[in-house]
Amino acid sequence: MNLSTPIEEIPRVGPQYQKRLKRLGIKTVRDLLFHFPHRYDDFSNLIPIAKAEPGGTFCFQGEILEVKNIYTFRRRMVLTQATLGDETGKLKVIWFNQPYLVNTFKKGDYVCLAGKITKKNGSKYLSNPIYEKIPADLRFNAELTHTGRLVPVYPETEGLSSKWLRFITRPILTTLKNQIPDSLPEKIREKYNFLPLETAIWQIHFPDSLKLADEAKKRFAFEELFELSLFILKERMKLNKEKAVPVPLNLKLIKKFVESLPFKLTDAQKKSAWQILKDLEKPKPMNRLLEGDVGSGKTVVAAMAALNVAKTNQQTAFMAPTEILAKQHFKTISGLLKGFNVKIGLLTGKEKVTPPAGGVDILIGTHALIQDKVKFEKLALVIIDEQHRFGIEQRAKLITNNYKLKTSQKMIPHFLSMTATPIPRTLSLTIYGDLDLSVINELPKGRKKIITKIIQPKDKNGTYEFIRQQVKEGRQVFVICPRIEGRSTKYEEAKSDLRLLSWLEVKAVKDEYQKLSKEVFPDLKIGMLHGKMKTQEKEKIMKDFKAREIDILVSTSVVEVGVDIPNAAVMMIEGSEKFGLAQLHQFRGRVGRSDFQSFCFLFTDRPGIVTNRRLRALISCDDGFAVAAKDLAIRGPGDFCDVRQ
Ligand code: ADP
Ligand code: MG
Repeated sequence: MNLSTPIEEIPRVGPQYQKRLKRLGIKTVRDLLFHFPHRYDDFSNLIPIAKAEPGGTFCFQGEILEVKNIYTFRRRMVLTQATLGDETGKLKVIWFNQPYLVNTFKKGDYVCLAGKITKKNGSKYLSNPIYEKIPADLRFNAELTHTGRLVPVYPETEGLSSKWLRFITRPILTTLKNQIPDSLPEKIREKYNFLPLETAIWQIHFPDSLKLADEAKKRFAFEELFELSLFILKERMKLNKEKAVPVPLNLKLIKKFVESLPFKLTDAQKKSAWQILKDLEKPKPMNRLLEGDVGSGKTVVAAMAALNVAKTNQQTAFMAPTEILAKQHFKTISGLLKGFNVKIGLLTGKEKVTPPAGGVDILIGTHALIQDKVKFEKLALVIIDEQHRFGIEQRAKLITNNYKLKTSQKMIPHFLSMTATPIPRTLSLTIYGDLDLSVINELPKGRKKIITKIIQPKDKNGTYEFIRQQVKEGRQVFVICPRIEGRSTKYEEAKSDLRLLSWLEVKAVKDEYQKLSKEVFPDLKIGMLHGKMKTQEKEKIMKDFKAREIDILVSTSVVEVGVDIPNAAVMMIEGSEKFGLAQLHQFRGRVGRSDFQSFCFLFTDRPGIVTNRRLRALISCDDGFAVAAKDLAIRGPGDFCDVRQ
């Protein structure tokens, strides 16, 4: 056996299981070993029976002295009751409603049991433990897989339990001992002190400690980025040999545009726009990232570039991560370019591919823009907004192949991506290759610093009162509901079932909406927004919010990016400890978009030192770059980049 052995040849994997594995995209031993657990159960606390006490999870090794089923008619339930013995004593064990277990064990079997001790009416028993049988000759020398250690728990899908995965994976690891060559160059491995591949695989599945599991994870996170950046660099080298249509800079036009704006551009906006316009003039494709904190005014810079392109009779594709954003851009850009006689189209849904791509100057849309059916005639510029929202791999695809295919010309369009998620220079090099960077590092004049506060449970009511006051003064409020997470079984189920997860998220929004509209702010107008709503409903809500017909908008993290409601001055985040700092910073950027003093309230139900330290980091810096750096330090690049998106 080696890493490329197909799963059909793995012992004990029958046709049914082969099918289930394939559904997960697992086709080879390698795929199986790279199907990582997402957490561990700690069953490593092995103790003698004499020490059994309630509190905590313990593990016991011993001999089954007796096992029988008991029917409780009153509770209509079958109890399987066993007695476990070791040198120090005996322990009663009870499983509920699993009558078949009576046939799993017999008297004299050696087992390891992990679970919690319950004390009832003065008698102690181990309730519903996880079990693992041990060959009698090995007894206490057995290598344990499902108990007596940190036990891996995999993101489960139908018909593939963690127990089965452990049962299959462990022997493979043993078989492949000393046979897995390392995929990272030794120099790099040594420089960063990464575990060798084989050790890392072993430790990520069956770790000797959580620290080692973490080290393994770090190695794999790095490797993923490493491979991706190699890929991107290669593509980029190809791209650098390509030609683009030069777009001459029309200074008179740009001047006229700048004068038409209702505000004065900041110096940083001017500088970025200039860099972009100069790039467009070159016969080689621009590849530039426009980085600017939330609210810094990236859209107007993009509009300027698109206008210049339009007046050379060429086209711009402008892509946003969500429908709401695409429509907002459509409105904003239509407004900005009014009077310049530019044809602007909008394309979102997959179905309605009216063929506007040929007839418009600027086509704005979601990733519906990269369907095969959409054919541009003279595409010269591609703009991607909030591009961190598209997964890294998706991005790589966008940057490289896609637009090549979609143009009928031989030329490659210029490429501008925009992000509010500041990426440290070293990392951006890794992710994007040799990309040029324009930075808008100042906010429009007159903006006030957003006041950020952590709200402990005891201060909740006072804060509600303050929020009511803000509404009375005419301001509007965003409420973000917590991310669904945790260790509840509900969540575990949900994680493997995205539909259930989004259902839970919707439920959280509905609950919060109920609470706020019925109990906390019955006197105010509350609206609700979540992913399960129809597009028209969502639009209606956003329109009402914009028109100030809603005071408080409760939503999932969908408003995270881009939405521009200058009158919103309060951002209230429930369960704020559940979000990453970079994301919290994004939320906060939804307010503070006007001259009003704005506020960001971080509600937390889990006040504690760690939570406080993290959230305080957000208070101490209002600069996205600093927040990102802190986030990076706290969570590591893997999380920051959302490689797993
Ligand atoms: P982001 O960079 O987050 O995408 P937007 O482009 O949505 O920011 O701009 C945020 C808000 O600031 C918009 O309402 C926009 O009209 C306004 N704005 C942009 N530039 C300026 C400026 N130089 N002065 C004042 N307001 C501006
Ligand atoms: Mg934006």
